[in-house]
Amino acid sequence: MKIKRLPFGGNFLAITLGELILTTDKMDDYELNHELIHVAQQRELLYLPFFVWYVTEWLVLTLKYRDWMKAYYNIRFEREAYRHQHDLSYLSHRRHYHYA
Ligand SMILES: [Zn+2]
Repeated sequence: MKIKRLPFGGNFLAITLGELILTTDKMDDYELNHELIHVAQQRELLYLPFFVWYVTEWLVLTLKYRDWMKAYYNIRFEREAYRHQHDLSYLSHRRHYHYA
């Protein structure tokens, strides 16, 4: 697992691509935990299916809510990550496929 800073400013943004976390800024413990939850989710789904599922769910929810940010927060992977990011021991006791 590797963390790489990207050299552009603006809003905080982080994205996890398999074992690589790309971020526009320093992450605090909770933001890092959020991304590490995505690493665990992606490992479980063997990476590529995660992205297919993620994007499909985002599109379907965007049509449902007609609001892409609301849709984003309701993607099952984001719900799990946002719900548990403040529990820094979460990954040590997380059940597999907990978003399902
Ligand atoms: Zn997320």
